[in-house]
Formats: sequence, C-alpha cells, structure tokens
Amino acid sequence: MAIDKFVNRHIGPRERDLEEMQRVIGVKSLDELIEQTVPSNIRLEKPLNLPNGLTERAYFKQIRKLAAKNKVFNTYIGMGYYDTITPAVIQRNILENPVWYTSYTPYQAEVSQGRLEALLNFQTMVCEMTAMDLANASLLDEATAAAEAMSLMYATRSRGKQKAGANVCFVDENVWPQTLDVLQTRAEPLGIELKVGDFSRDKIEENWFGAIVQYPNLKGEVEDYSNFTSRLHDNDCKISVASDLLALALITPPGEWDADVVFGSAQRFGVPMGYGGPSAAFFALKEDYKRYMPGRIIGVTKDATGKLALRMALQTREQHIKRERATSNICTAQALLATMAGMYAVYHGPEGIRGIADRAHSIGVLLAEEITKLGYKQENANFFDTIRISLPRHVKKEDIEWLSLDLEMNFRYFETGEVGLSIDETTNLEDINWILEVFAKAANKRIPVIDEIPENSIIDKQYGRKSEFLTQDVFNKYRSETEMARYIKRLEKKDISLVHSMISLGSCTMKLNAATEMIPLSWIEFNGIHPFVPKNQAMGYHEMMEELRRDLAEITGFDDISLMPNSGAAGEYTGLMVIREYHKSRGEGHRNVVLIPSSAHGTNPASAVMAGMKVVVVPCDENGNIDVEALRAKAEEHKDNLSAFMVTYPSTHGVFESAIVEMCDIIHKNGGQVYMDGANMNAQVGLTNPKRIGADVCHLNLHKTFAIPHGGGGPGVGPIGVAKHLVEFLPSHPVMNNGHVGLHAVSAAPWGSASVLPITYGYIKMLGADGLTQATKIAILNANYIASLLKDNYGILYTGEKGRVAHEMILECRHLKASAGVTEADIAKRLMDYGFHAPTLSFPVHGTLMVEPTESESKEELDRFVEAMNSIFSEIKEIEEGKADANDNVLKNAPHTAEVLMADDWKHGYSREKAAYALGWLRDNKFWVPVSRVDDAYGDRNLICTCEPLESYMEE
Ligand SMILES: *Cc1c(COP(=O)(O)O)cnc(C)c1O
Repeated sequence: MAIDKFVNRHIGPRERDLEEMQRVIGVKSLDELIEQTVPSNIRLEKPLNLPNGLTERAYFKQIRKLAAKNKVFNTYIGMGYYDTITPAVIQRNILENPVWYTSYTPYQAEVSQGRLEALLNFQTMVCEMTAMDLANASLLDEATAAAEAMSLMYATRSRGKQKAGANVCFVDENVWPQTLDVLQTRAEPLGIELKVGDFSRDKIEENWFGAIVQYPNLKGEVEDYSNFTSRLHDNDCKISVASDLLALALITPPGEWDADVVFGSAQRFGVPMGYGGPSAAFFALKEDYKRYMPGRIIGVTKDATGKLALRMALQTREQHIKRERATSNICTAQALLATMAGMYAVYHGPEGIRGIADRAHSIGVLLAEEITKLGYKQENANFFDTIRISLPRHVKKEDIEWLSLDLEMNFRYFETGEVGLSIDETTNLEDINWILEVFAKAANKRIPVIDEIPENSIIDKQYGRKSEFLTQDVFNKYRSETEMARYIKRLEKKDISLVHSMISLGSCTMKLNAATEMIPLSWIEFNGIHPFVPKNQAMGYHEMMEELRRDLAEITGFDDISLMPNSGAAGEYTGLMVIREYHKSRGEGHRNVVLIPSSAHGTNPASAVMAGMKVVVVPCDENGNIDVEALRAKAEEHKDNLSAFMVTYPSTHGVFESAIVEMCDIIHKNGGQVYMDGANMNAQVGLTNPKRIGADVCHLNLHKTFAIPHGGGGPGVGPIGVAKHLVEFLPSHPVMNNGHVGLHAVSAAPWGSASVLPITYGYIKMLGADGLTQATKIAILNANYIASLLKDNYGILYTGEKGRVAHEMILECRHLKASAGVTEADIAKRLMDYGFHAPTLSFPVHGTLMVEPTESESKEELDRFVEAMNSIFSEIKEIEEGKADANDNVLKNAPHTAEVLMADDWKHGYSREKAAYALGWLRDNKFWVPVSRVDDAYGDRNLICTCEPLESYMEE
C-alpha cells in the first residue's frame, strides 16, 4: 500500500476490516456485494476516464499553481459585490473551523443551539438594518431573492388584483442586470409579466401587483421611493426593495418608508467575494406576510424544562409538507455565510458598522471632489459609496482603462460612457492616491496628493438614517478578539458536527470534507476576486472550472455541465427549465406534465411548479419501487403533454431499482425527457451514471457526493449535466460570458459559487478514477454492514431484489410506536445522549429513520453507532415489557442535559447513570446537550425571530 494515497485517508474502513464486514453481510468479496446491489444492465463497461489520484502534497502544488494564475486587483466595480475584510477571528474560528462548516442544517435543535443562535443574530441584524419585522436565515443570492420577492408579492396580491388577473411586476430599470435576468427566467413560467421602466415616470397600471426597486440603485444613486411606495399601496400593489446592508447604516431604511419586502446580499459583511460566491442573501418582510416567508426562519421557543431554546420555526412550510403547493424550493441555503455576516455585526457593533459605512461614504465624497477638480463631472446627486464620473471630451475611456489596469485596479464602465467607482471597506489612502493618479494622468493634469481622509457626508438630510440599530446586547459586548473568540467557542460547544461523531443523515451524504480540500478557500487568489473582472485576471479559476466541468461530464456521462445553480433544488429548477426550452424549440411548448414518484424529495414537485409544470404523482408498490405499470399508464395518458419524469436514483428508498432503464424508455417513447435528481450520486460514481441509466439531465449536489461541507445549511453547489441535445439551452449571464447561450440566468453570479469549487476539484483530483469508484463501493459496503447489524431489531423497510440496500437504508420504527409508544423522534433524541446526531427523520417514509453512513466512516465508528442503536432498542424493550414506565423513561425524557442530571431533585424511575452513561465509552467522550427537548408548537404559536425580546418572552 502506498502510504500517501489520499483514498486511504478519505475512506474509513481499513483493508483488514473488509473481511469481517463482508462476513457479517454474507458475501465473499466487495465485488460480489456490488454485483448483488447494482443491476448489471446499468453497470459501466469501462472504468472512469480520469487520471489517477494525486497525493495531498502533489495536489497542493497543483492548486497553488492555479491560484497563482489568478490576479487580485483592487476592484471598484460594485454591482452587488464589494471587497470586505473578514475579521481574522471569524475566518479562523468559523470559516476554517470544522465544527461550524461540517455541521448539518439545524433540524435537530437540541444539538444545534450554537448555529441557531448565530443565525438568529443574522436575522436580528437584518431586521435592524432594514427596519423590517421578520427576516429569514438566508437565501441563495440577491438575484434569486428578488425572484422570491416577486413570487411572494404575486402569491399575496390582493383579492381585487387576483380577480382582475393582475400579473405585471414592475421592475425599475436601475436594478442590477443579473437581478433583472434572473427575474426574467423566473417570471415567464409563472405567467408573470415584467414591466421594466423608470419608477419616477411610469404610471402605475391596473394590472400591476408589485414593484421591485434597488436602493441605492445601479447607478449608485440613492432615490427617494417613499412617494412611489404610497402610490403603489394606494393601488393595492406591494413594493420589494433590493438594498445594501452597509448603506442602510447611513440612509433611511426601507422599513421606515413602508416597504413590504427588503432583500439583498449580506456579502460585504465580512464574506469574501469569491469570484461570485457563495455569500448569503437576506430577505426581510412585514409581519403580515410571515406565512409566505421563503427559506428557513430561526425562532425562539422553550425546552421541556421551560428554559429558552431555539429552533427552526414554522417547519410546516417546508416543501416536504406542501410539495406541489409550495411556492419556493429553497432547501440548502447559505447558513455558513449568514453565520459569518451575523458575526461581523456582532464583532463591529453599531458604531463599527456606522464607522465602516461613514468611511466608504467619505472616501466617495473626497474622490468626487478631487476628480471634479481635475475637470470631470460626478453625476450622482445622492450617493452612498458609488460615484459616477463623466469624462471631459479630451479624455478617452480607453486611457482610464489601461492606466487603471496598469496600477492593478478595475473600474466600472457604464454603457452610457461614465466611469464608476464603488468604494468599500478596504479602500485606503494609498488606493485613493492611485485612483486619482489615473484620472489626473488621463486628463493630463498634475497628480494631487491626499494625506488624510476627512469625514464628509453629502447624504441629503431627507435620506439620512436617524434611527438607531443593533442595540441588542449581543451586538454591544464582544469587541476584543479574546472576547469574540470565546463567544464563538461558547456557541460552537453546543453543536454536534462531523468532528464529534458520524452524522448518518440519509440522502445528505455527510462524508469527509478533507482539510486539504478546504485550505485553498482561505487564499486571497480564490476569495478576493470580483466576478465581473476581465477573465484574464481569473485564468486559474477558468482552468480549474473547465477541468472540473470535463471531469463531472465524465462522471455523469453527459456532454456539458453548467456550474451556475447554487443548490440541488436550484439545479432541479434549472434542469426543468432547460427541458422546457427544448420542448419549445421543437414547437412542443405545450408539454407541461411532469411525472414525480410519491417517494420524491419535496423540492422536486416545488421546482416543477416553479418551472410552470403540472405535477402528476406516480405511486410506489409495496416493495418501495416505483410502480412501473402505473408509470406507463400515466405516461401514455399524458403522452401529448408529457414534459418530463423526475427520478432519484438509487431511489430515496435506498434501492437500485432494476426497472430504471425500462422506466426511462417509457418516458422517451411518450415524448418526455428524464430528469435525474442526483442527490444519491454517491452510490453511482464509477459504477454507473445518469446517461447510462437513460436520463437526459441531472443535477449533482456537490455538497453531498463531492465533499463540499454542509455548513450548517449551506453553501451548496448544484451543477447540472445535460445530454448533447440540451447543451444549447444551458443558462447564460447578462454581464459575463459564461460559455452558455440558452436560458436567462438562474443565479446572480456567472459561475455560481465559484470559490467553493476547488473543494470538489480537489476531491476528484486526489481520489482519481480508482479512488472515486472505491469510495462508491465502500459507501455501499458500509450501508449494507449497518443494515445487516440492525435488521433484526428494527427491520429494513426496503431492499433490492437480492436483499441488498444501496448506500443508505430506511429503518422501520413504526412497530415500536404500537408496542412501546416510542416514536422515531424519541429515538432521534435519545441518540443525542449517546453523542450521535440523528439519521433523517420521517423522510421519505413517515415514522422511519433513514441512515446513510458514507464511505468515510470507519468500522469502529459504524460499530459504535450500531451499539448505540441496539442499546436504545433494548431500552425500548424495557418499556414494552413493563420494566420501564411508558411515560417516564430514558427515551421520552431524552435528551438529558447536565443541568437536569445534576439537579438535587431527581424524580425519574431510572438512574442518572443510565441516562448519561448507557454505554462504557460515553464516559470517555460525552457530548453534553445544552437544552432539553424543544417545544416546537410553543414557538410557532408565539413567533419570535429576533434576539431582542428574549427576556420578556420568557416571562409570559
Ligand atoms: C438534498 C436533496 C435535494 C435538495 O438539494 P439542496 O441542495 O438541499 O437544494 C433534493 N433531492 C434529494 C433526494 C435530496 O436528498
């Protein structure tokens, strides 16, 4: 064995474990297991055509070389992306800290209190800056947030407007071009018409339901929308405002002039530009629309002992429940980046944020004055950080351009001839002098010298912010680095992550996120680049992305890949829109029926509806397989209008269905296209692929199969792969040529969340063809090993024809409810006492647990998990046999906090020791849960989503 092979670090089980694991499963070799699991008619005939894996050291050299090909210039382009200083204490303790980046979306509230508090801070910060009532814990980016705002205004339009068929959304011409482009994509399938115009001139029409404006706008101008807002409201229309959190420190927040929705990017709150992403979008609204909030909201509630606790609120809105009635498909969002932005506000506080805003503004004013002195004209009447300079006749734009590039600076060039400068947190005296040098030289004037930045403001009294913000305790406490680091650590200690124990969430593929894969994220050559700089400043990025696209095409069998979608669900939407364009191009635009199995993830039907399609549900048979005859009948019934079939493979039931080829065939024969949900790709890589199976499009969740960490609920990347006939429809970008010419944009940034792509790139380069295939085989081995050891106690709900599961399995728990009154949630909570995060609850089958171990877990860890599950099973038996009380037992009271266990008063019918140390190894490695079981219903009845009134809340 080559000791430095990365595959040996990525994969958990050792060579010596395989024999024992195979014996437990009842196979003689790994290949025998794979033969019993993956249908032979879909197996690849040849190994992946990818190079061998690099060692970690060799990869490091390669990625350093690529990084060196990116050039980090000072960039004043603005348009939604600004350089920012990530406080090092946040970079080191959050961005680079696996407790924060490897944790899961906080569904299991009791082991997620740290990140829940961080996200509550983010929501509070957004409410404070915007002066709105309620904010969510992030959306994918500003442009998709605009689309969510449009959908919300449409869904909540007044009855009069609904009856009148009002379907026009006004968009001011001065919103970011990428925002407008995404709005175009998203409006069309919903039957919404966009009217692009000038808010100050256009007459409000009868058929408008809402309007979207930008504040400050595309030109950098701070407009007064208060009049427009009241006129809209008089006409039963709503207004959504794209805004800039930093600007709102100085200008009147939209909540104070009665905006209905305020959204935007929180990037400049300490999240690097990353060549476009990831960063968190924020979304805030008036109390009245809280039931329509897209994405996730963190709320306050209490635990079983009455103690304050946090959890995700209003979970009934999730697509799982609403499915085809959902109006938004947000699942993975941008939790890690929202956490960072919230912490930026915690660290700087109101005076710090105001100081940063004042400084950027003052520099803008100073530059405007100095540049004017050189004979130019500054055009913006009211600006925050962006000035717009028109050139005197004798100055050529080209001169400004080469002079600035020569000094490693990027300016913005308006189509109308002006030059734009957006000032940010990083701009300093030296930069100011360089900027002035360019304008002076181009005008043939003497170069002025500036030696200080005077405080200065031109913000009109009428627009100046008068209200206070960030007055809550948390934003006024942690100013020294020591205090800040300890605050972050205090939150971190409350959470379970992958560095604590395996997180066996089915469908989520919580595998190793290797440190070598992660390190390049911290390099300025990757994270310090604005997405709209000339491509020759990002050659390293482009080389990496081209190779990555080629590798992903090889892995999926497809012809091309779009890296643009920022999550799996965004990929679903994009793929369906591509299919829609394809039908339209053939004169079959009427095809709008999509067949979706009942076992599908909730985002599937939600995405289909957003793409303007009609969902027809296909049932599963008693073995959990899609009912092929029902599929055939429905495909034939709808053959004139059949658009697509959405299928997850292997299925969400954890089985490689052998009829998959036949199913794809049925769809094609009836004129439809096959969309494969690639969430379960971890069971396919190297063994089979979507193309081989018969699909036309698939998305990949790079944050599942391809090693991007889950970040406590994002970032994600959801690229789609397509067969040749669909390549021409892949999404384009209005500002940068991203190589595709089809749909309008689906994300704000031309290459989506570019800065996390090196993680997947590294994963593929270091595993290589053999390692990737071996990872898949071991993922299947690990799942079948667990299934063999748990099947007698719990029962495995579905298996393939030869009795095998794929890379995950559903554990039956419903019989335990009948026999002992124990639910899958009780088991999940009791697992916390054993130091484990729960598997997936009640998806895709209610009352069950879905377990996916991944290849990264060692045999020892699998054994520990099995031991915990079987120990819990014997605790359930005690209830069944009457040895433990039906209500007062270790399961119903789980999880047990130290506070409860150490109280003088202990009234339970079991010992403290049994509650805390049910198995020997817990004494050595105990995770102390910070709160008792949280009360979801209480919090939903008393919805509180900011950290302001916590004390008063608990007194009620
Ligand atoms: C995770 C998942 C999705 C959604 O992907 P996101 O990246 O969270 O948007 C869709 N389908 C299945 C089966 C999944 O497991």
